Amino acid sequence: MAFKNKILVTGGLGYIGSHTVISLIENGYDPIIVDNMCNSKIEALNRIEKISGVRPNTYIADVRDEEKMEQIFKENKIDAVIHFAGLKAVGESVQKPKLYYDNNIGSTEVLLKKMKEHGVKNIVFSSSATVYGNPKKVPIVESDPIGEVTNPYADTKVQIEYILQALAKQDPSLGIAILRYFNPIGAHPSGLIGEDPRGIPNNLMPYVTQVAVGKLPELNVFGNDYPTRDGTCIRDYIHVCDLARGHVLTLKKLEQGPGLVIYNLGTSVGTTVLELVNAFMKANNITIPYKIAPRRAGDIPECYANCDKAYKEIGFKTQYNIVDCCRDSWNWQKKNPNGLN
Ligand code: NAD
Ligand code: UDP
Repeated sequence: MAFKNKILVTGGLGYIGSHTVISLIENGYDPIIVDNMCNSKIEALNRIEKISGVRPNTYIADVRDEEKMEQIFKENKIDAVIHFAGLKAVGESVQKPKLYYDNNIGSTEVLLKKMKEHGVKNIVFSSSATVYGNPKKVPIVESDPIGEVTNPYADTKVQIEYILQALAKQDPSLGIAILRYFNPIGAHPSGLIGEDPRGIPNNLMPYVTQVAVGKLPELNVFGNDYPTRDGTCIRDYIHVCDLARGHVLTLKKLEQGPGLVIYNLGTSVGTTVLELVNAFMKANNITIPYKIAPRRAGDIPECYANCDKAYKEIGFKTQYNIVDCCRDSWNWQKKNPNGLN
């Protein structure tokens, strides 16, 4: 049965959330957003409106705030929740583990409680390839072991997956989708929304675009002595608009009936750090100065997905390649050198 009512999008002003809100609107859904703006700006909402012509009903609130969540569930008839809200910086999670457990697990607990009280049966959860830890083999399939992780951020994702899996067993009327994202990059082709990290970026693509725009002098390539084709680490970079569409396809799957599904969302293609940097330079005709720096603690050599399951079960297939990703990331950064202001 199609979801005729609203889709609650927690963290809907963030990077992946805002792109997914656009996809939802384009596909006839009615998203409502809850975001506490700890890592987003209200300008994202203006940009969503500019792109889609729709200004989704938005609550600036913390998902852990039970009273506020009660109000949101009371005021809106909700068919399903997409739960993006969470903190995501690996390094910060090592420094502030309690903050990460409180925020990521605490928000999920409140959300699940309110869903139960209001008879909302469907949830899509933003998990991460990080739950696989250092994979024993690549490409990674969904049945590969999870849980051997080394930082609190990853552990919050593992714990939430366990909670959701237990719930699915206990209540077969629920529709639960766990999506394990690989490395989202790129931006909406309009250049109006994109990734807007606070401070110096930790992730590769926003670092590259900030070098390109002149905010940072050069890229440090963390290690070129890994056992890979050029010695730099391999990741699976997926365009954020492909990822967003994956959520729409997942909702359609949940519309078919209850149960638990788990999908890798990536491209099934591994790209090294140097390949990404070279693709960026070629796609945009820009030089990115870089130097080889020591390895970054905790990095794994190789991580990329096998996405056959998502293709077979929900028809998920990427439409953007690495060149598109590089073009759209740069388009976003050059139009918004200081992010969303
Ligand atoms: P983001 O920080 O841009 O978006 C998260 C949003 O959630 C932000 O707008 C933030 O303000 C909001 N938020 C955080 N805690 C909240 C709370 N308690 N209540 C209300 N709002 C809250 O991050 P993103 O890159 O869009 O990631 C979205 C989700 O996907 C996160 O759960 C993240 O862990 C997961 N994920 C991201 C990546 C990635 O590389 N970007 C990879 C795998 C998984
Ligand atoms: N990386 C890098 N320089 C940077 C940021 C990242 O060389 O300034 C490398 C990093 O070591 C890893 C890859 O780029 O091999 C992807 O890093 P990112 O943090 O984006 O993703 P993750 O490692 O969390 O998958």
